[in-house]
Amino acid sequence: MPDIKADMIIVGAGLSGLITAWRCLDVHPELNVIVIEASDVVGGDHTWSFNMSDILEHLQDWIKPFIAHQWDDYDVKFPKRKRRLEITYCTGNSDTLRACVQPHIESGRLKVMSGTQALDVQPYHVVLENEQRLSAKCVLDARGFKPNDDVVLGYQKFVGHVIRTQHPHGVKRPIIMDATVEQLGGYRFVYCLPYSETEILVEDTYYTDGSELKSQEVDARLKDYIRDSLGVKNYSITRREIGVLPITLAVDEAFGTDVSGEKTEPAKLGMTGGYYHAVTGYSLPEAVKSANVVCDMIEKNKPDFGAAVLHEMAYHRVDHYHEEKFLRLLNRMLFRAAKPTERYKVLQRFYGLSEGLIERFYRNRLTKLDKLRILIGKPPVPVSNALKNLSESAFLERERK
Ligand SMILES: Cc1cc2nc3c(=O)[nH]c(=O)nc-3n(C[C@H](O)[C@H](O)[C@H](O)COP(=O)(O)OP(=O)(O)OC[C@H]3O[C@@H](n4cnc5c(N)ncnc54)[C@H](O)[C@@H]3O)c2cc1C
Repeated sequence: MPDIKADMIIVGAGLSGLITAWRCLDVHPELNVIVIEASDVVGGDHTWSFNMSDILEHLQDWIKPFIAHQWDDYDVKFPKRKRRLEITYCTGNSDTLRACVQPHIESGRLKVMSGTQALDVQPYHVVLENEQRLSAKCVLDARGFKPNDDVVLGYQKFVGHVIRTQHPHGVKRPIIMDATVEQLGGYRFVYCLPYSETEILVEDTYYTDGSELKSQEVDARLKDYIRDSLGVKNYSITRREIGVLPITLAVDEAFGTDVSGEKTEPAKLGMTGGYYHAVTGYSLPEAVKSANVVCDMIEKNKPDFGAAVLHEMAYHRVDHYHEEKFLRLLNRMLFRAAKPTERYKVLQRFYGLSEGLIERFYRNRLTKLDKLRILIGKPPVPVSNALKNLSESAFLERERK
């Protein structure tokens, strides 16, 4: 079989793969891209939420076609704090993501090979399960999350029900965290996204040490919450989603700063490259950031941009490792220093800080002063536990024993 050739190959038609294809094809009219997807469904069946301010400023207009719902503000609720934050909140989904790349598929510049598993993924070529070989100026690996021994994780787990109610449900804006619910085995909160007056996503979320999720028990708690807290009696469930997202507590520095693979490995995108917010496990803003890096490298190094993309993305991963250091520290405080049923106090205190700081936290652009503000004051965790978990390397050493 002769090689199939393209300018760029992306393995994985999930969030990061399609966002990168979309951005690069929008900006570079001469580019052609192949995306290889193992499943039959391109773009999966997901919703992805984010603060508008999480997105690089110059891409906030560009991302708009992806947005299915947008709200001007949202609420958080804790036993001792209720607050409204005037931060624009957005949600996109698999349908809007597919619609964003569709014009490029129709123009023939984006070829999506679904139902096709890539077996061997190299920096400049890919071999498929039928032994077909594809080559390109560079290959990007967007195959989704893979755990490894150099990273210590906690988990954010959730079950969500999208419900259609017979009468208006009365929730006017998103409730990003309702932590007034019973705390069970970790930090628990319910997340509500009102898509319309009669359609709402209600998600029961747990920050716990292990990844196991008893989803039927969570289904039953969701039913109670919908009845008792939202006061909704007549409804049907139109969609159910389950998620187990990694929350990073520590990364081995040697692994986090390793760029030795820049010439021997494909560039990584999305969860497989560790590109998610360490505290929330959310990856959309990072997917946009990585897409921007790839796009800029193509621009600066046309027409032979391949090696430059691989090089820059290897260092982008190192930057991400350093940028998330403080977030990993906060996770160690949340998961190891606080008692499981008192973890909510860390967030209750955090949401008392300024709105600008909260935005910068989700954007992962905290200033030194912000970090001080988060750490000083009466700590909601025992001081001895906090001190014990300060050092990332000592923590890793203990966890590995
Ligand atoms: C239920 C749920 C809700 C989430 N909600 C949010 C949210 O609201 N906001 C947010 O920012 N993040 C959210 N996340 C986290 C994260 O953004 C998503 O997991 C996101 O889809 C990750 O993007 P990705 O491109 O890294 O991986 P994925 O989207 O998982 O895509 C990986 C793709 O690679 C394909 N693949 C794997 N191996 C191969 C192979 N060998 N050959 C070809 N194809 C292959 C897979 O089939 C898949 O389609 C959520 C996650 C889940 C699970």
